[in-house]
Formats: sequence, structure tokens, C-alpha cells
Amino acid sequence: MTLTLPMRGGCICGNIRYEVAGHPLIETMCHCTTCQKRTGSAFSMNLLVMKPDFAVTHGKTVTRDLPTGSGKINVQHFCDDCLVRTHTEPVALPTIVYVRPGTLDDPKAINPGVQIWTRSALPWALRPDTASSERDLGEDARELIRAWRAANPVCIGD
Ligand SMILES: [Zn+2]
Ligand SMILES: [Zn+2]
Repeated sequence: MTLTLPMRGGCICGNIRYEVAGHPLIETMCHCTTCQKRTGSAFSMNLLVMKPDFAVTHGKTVTRDLPTGSGKINVQHFCDDCLVRTHTEPVALPTIVYVRPGTLDDPKAINPGVQIWTRSALPWALRPDTASSERDLGEDARELIRAWRAANPVCIGD
């Protein structure tokens, strides 16, 4: 997989635009029931990038402090007009931003190689070829991140 930096993306109406200047740390699919509700879909995708590598380049988001499936608070960023959620700031990880990969201009550049909360996954939505955790990243994080980086060589070295 090769990513072209900066990656750019935005909401549907174009009010919010953003850029990602650095390689992502990891990308997860989250099958938790909170993500299923929040997305109205089978899972959410989380592209973890370092905060200094992320910038909103057009518009101003509205935010809500909302709990995750494990009860931690995330600051969710939405477009005020079309209500698309573009990114998330996890309070517990203040140096990280979760970009919503479906809002990238080229979402095909992303290969979600780690899936978490698989115990609540919709059976057809599971990827058998990826590293998995029944719960959050937690103690499995190092192994999962290593597996993801092995499949995404561009990210080796950080
Ligand atoms: Zn919008
Ligand atoms: Zn989740």
C-alpha cells in the first residue's frame, strides 16, 4: 500500500476540508455496538494520525463530547451544515486524531488491517485476513500494530 501525502478529505457539502501530512500510525475497524449506532452501519473505521500531522484547512467544525463503547470520552467533530463527522479527538490520547477514512478524497488508499470489538461484529462484516481483538486495542495493541505495519510497509519506522 502506498499513501500519497498529504491526504486530503472533507465533508459532503465541502464546508469542512482537512489535510493529513504524516503517515498514519494504524487503521482500525471498530465493530463495537456504539460505533454501529453512531455510524448507522456495520462498523466504524479509525485512521490514527499524530495531531501535528492533521489540520482543518477550511471551515470550522462543531463538536460534541461523546462516550465510546468502553466509556471513554471522545470529542467528535462534525460539519455544521451536512452533519458529516470528519474526525475525532480521543481525550485519553491527546496526541492523536482519529480521521474518518470514508471522508478522505481517496478512501481506497486505506487498508484497515486491524479490527477490534469483534465479539459484537456482524458476521458478514468480519475480515478473516486481518489481526483481530475481541475487545479494544488494550493489551493486544503492540501485536496488532505490528501486524498492521507488516502489511503496510510504508508505515514502518515510526
Ligand atoms: Zn458539510
Ligand atoms: Zn467502536
